[in-house]
Amino acid sequence: MQFTAFLLFPATYYYFSPYLPFQALTEGVVNGSIFIFGALFVGSIFFGRTFCGWFCPAGGLQDCVMQFRPEPVKRRRVRWIKFLLWGLWLSLYVFLIISAGKPDKTDFFFLTESGFSVSDPGSLILYLIVVFLLFVFPLLIGRRASCHIICWMAPFMIIGRKLGNAARLPGMGLVIENDNCISCNGCTSVCPMSIDVMANVSSGNLEDQDCILCGACADACPKGVIALRIGRR
Ligand code: SF4
Ligand code: SF4
Repeated sequence: MQFTAFLLFPATYYYFSPYLPFQALTEGVVNGSIFIFGALFVGSIFFGRTFCGWFCPAGGLQDCVMQFRPEPVKRRRVRWIKFLLWGLWLSLYVFLIISAGKPDKTDFFFLTESGFSVSDPGSLILYLIVVFLLFVFPLLIGRRASCHIICWMAPFMIIGRKLGNAARLPGMGLVIENDNCISCNGCTSVCPMSIDVMANVSSGNLEDQDCILCGACADACPKGVIALRIGRR
């Protein structure tokens, strides 16, 4: 599913673009990516970062890179960077809205060609730059490094997830099914987000802001200790 999402990225790119809202807001328009960011935030209250683990085009690309660069990332060293970038980026939006005035139009397909994003040489160059960045971080640093360092959508979902947890709303998450863990490290070794899943199993808490609910750890566990479930938290 993720690889398909990546193949469709030339069509869908503008709906995830962090740049396009700047251009749209200066013209008083709320574009498609602003709607998508809002939907990801609301959806994450119940489904966490499921989008990252199942539907994200950038995830599909990075999972391909992981096949030949599988080293885990030292998360604590790098994951704060995306929050810094995200804060600056959102501040620029607010500044634009204050300076250009409140947007008075909506256009989900803003600047697309019949809904297709990459439709001229300019948009192709921009697209290739973004793909190059998403490709080079996992290549140089390790598994899904772009998710940890530059993803502009992850903070929306991390905050949404925390709100859902705080309100104890039902949602999707990992649960510990039994205490048959044999400490084989299988779950940790497959985790695309470099989470020490085995340590989390030992502590009895599988909640982690980097978890994208992909279910790889559950699939890898030979004892059926971990499961992906929808229910009360
Ligand atoms: S902890 Fe499990 S579900 Fe979460 S990202 Fe890692 S492998 Fe996927
Ligand atoms: S894969 Fe299963 S048995 Fe192995 S360490 Fe992880 S939870 Fe324990």
